[in-house]
Amino acid sequence: MTTRSPLDLPHRLAPSAHMANSKPSETPDTLHRRGLMFVLSSPSGTGKTTIARRLLAEDDAIGMSVSVTTRPPRPGEVDGQDYHFTDEAGFDAMVEAGEFLEWAEVFGHSYGTPKAQIKAGLKDGQDFLFDIDWQGTQQLYQRMEVDVVRVFLLPPSIAALEHRLAARGTDSADVIAGRMSRARSEISHWDGYDYVIVNDDIDACFEKVRTILDAERMNRARQTGLVDFVRELMR
Ligand code: ADP
Ligand code: 5GP
Repeated sequence: MTTRSPLDLPHRLAPSAHMANSKPSETPDTLHRRGLMFVLSSPSGTGKTTIARRLLAEDDAIGMSVSVTTRPPRPGEVDGQDYHFTDEAGFDAMVEAGEFLEWAEVFGHSYGTPKAQIKAGLKDGQDFLFDIDWQGTQQLYQRMEVDVVRVFLLPPSIAALEHRLAARGTDSADVIAGRMSRARSEISHWDGYDYVIVNDDIDACFEKVRTILDAERMNRARQTGLVDFVRELMR
């Protein structure tokens, strides 16, 4: 699922370089801004992992939020990269200690977003990509409202969804049946998102996701370096 830890990202927008002294020679693209939390949700099999991987590969300024889970690793998954894998007791201890921004039970396992790395990264201008379900999205939005951008992907049809799950080849027939039986209830949460995209053609869908991310980065409230920049312009 995920390929990179946010902690590995280059600090292209580090505050020391961009926040305090906005020189006239700087372009608005290099000004400091607060990072954002970019949530991609979809019924399982719609394509969010495919889109997420491409975004991480093509955009250095966004990194994956690595969740903690009690689900056992799938073949090829790496601890600390795809997830932080733990057991029930370890997960419960983190809940007790208030270390999650949100957490939920999905398919019989617990999943949660660790708080510390996200809060520090946002201040530094890092964007985080979240592959979380609708419950997590709701909690995240309640806690971090203005930082959260919510994108929901829909399949073009139920038949296409089933075909994609089978073609992916990662799940048994039983697991696929379980994901299909949950699909309609997951789809019903589409109206809890800011943006909704039908993932029919993968390239077109990816471009739409990029367009949303680019536009949200220009949101005035996030561009914290603008105040000094504009003051300098007006001097
Ligand atoms: P999710 O993360 O939502 O469960 P994946 O990204 O794993 O879904 O995609 C499920 C399968 O569907 C993968 O095999 C992927 O290559 C394929 N897929 C994704 N988007 C499309 C698309 N637009 N058209 C056809 N196949 C797709
Ligand atoms: P998987 O086990 O297939 O990797 O993920 C199963 C589901 O758990 C997916 O719908 C995914 O979006 C969701 N998920 C993964 N991490 C988190 C998390 O930290 N919080 C929440 N709420 N859901 C998560």
